Amino acid sequence: MTFQSPDAGLAYLDYNATAPARPEALEAAFAAMRTVGNASSTHRSGRDAADRVDLARRQTADLLNCSPGEIIFTSGATEANNLALRAAFAAGGRLVTSSVEHPAVLETAKALTSGAPASLVALPVDADGLVDLDAFHAALAGGGVAIVSLMAANNETGVLTELAPIVEAAHDAGALVHTDATQLVGRLPIDLADTDVDLLSLSAHKFGGPQGVGALFVRRGVRLPYRPLLVGGGQERGWRAGTLNVAGIAGAGAAANAARLGLADEAPRIARLRDALEEALVEQIGDCRINGAVDRRLPGVTSITFYGAPADAVLAAMTDVAASEGSACSSGAPSPSHVLLAMGRSREEADSTIRFSLGYATTTDDIERAVSSTVRAVQHVRAALTAAI
Ligand code: PMP
Repeated sequence: MTFQSPDAGLAYLDYNATAPARPEALEAAFAAMRTVGNASSTHRSGRDAADRVDLARRQTADLLNCSPGEIIFTSGATEANNLALRAAFAAGGRLVTSSVEHPAVLETAKALTSGAPASLVALPVDADGLVDLDAFHAALAGGGVAIVSLMAANNETGVLTELAPIVEAAHDAGALVHTDATQLVGRLPIDLADTDVDLLSLSAHKFGGPQGVGALFVRRGVRLPYRPLLVGGGQERGWRAGTLNVAGIAGAGAAANAARLGLADEAPRIARLRDALEEALVEQIGDCRINGAVDRRLPGVTSITFYGAPADAVLAAMTDVAASEGSACSSGAPSPSHVLLAMGRSREEADSTIRFSLGYATTTDDIERAVSSTVRAVQHVRAALTAAI
């Protein structure tokens, strides 16, 4: 069973929005759906479903190098982020995050601190998208921080956060640490035996699993003033009530396993393709700027500002390439990327920026198609705008 491209003539370069399903994920999800069983039932059918969930829990844990008992399955990273922040912040205090987080963190943080907005610190970033560490240490020094939530990799620029020193300082200050690792998991190795975060969110569809399935890692022994978002039948050890999405979870586990096995080869191959794409675009288009610390990024992401070429017009002219204007979660909305604005870019720059994101199934053909199509589209839009002046 393989993923069917909606159109063989389309270069799909929008893996940060969602990745194509891995064949292993399709097999596992279909196999689960072909049988009947509620993972909570004690008869043989129920045990079969529970076995599929157990396997997926082990596979997900193996990708992170944690233990299966530390994984709570959710409906995605949005729910995992909500659960993590609400759990850690249930007793109040201060909440430290960054200005470039995904809305699933930023909006949750705002909602939790709406009664006392001063208890929310959204750390600034520099022009490369790196979190201001002086501001971070100053926030900790202010005392009373319940939780620090900083993303492992940014969805728009791919910029990575060096978590180890952040975790150490936060723990010294008595704060818990959560990381939204949605864009990192399955793209670069992460070892939770080494990285001492307390909570981590992931979403299966970013690494080739189904949409609508994710997980929250909660480190064993971490004490949280927790309140579940969903109460009911007590599934997931009371963390998340509701009949388990067995097919989705089985697909997520199989994708996690395939991603883990492929990681060592995939990451450098994808980085080479991304670098080739960037080089060709910079050379052939000119007057553009790559956003984010170039040597501290995910292997498959590039965010490029093409000056004088609004991204919506360029993307509309590129019918054989799927790429993104800012992040998919905010596209359709007229507001410019909050990530690029936080990095000091102007509104016009943000509006002229395209994100290409590559992944495990990206080919050299995709890159060649993307280069020729982008060059043509940017030149066309620039010429049309110049002619209109
Ligand atoms: N965090 C980050 C960094 C993301 O990129 C996304 C997906 N765009 C999410 C959270 C939310 O994931 P989901 O929509 O699968 O819940």
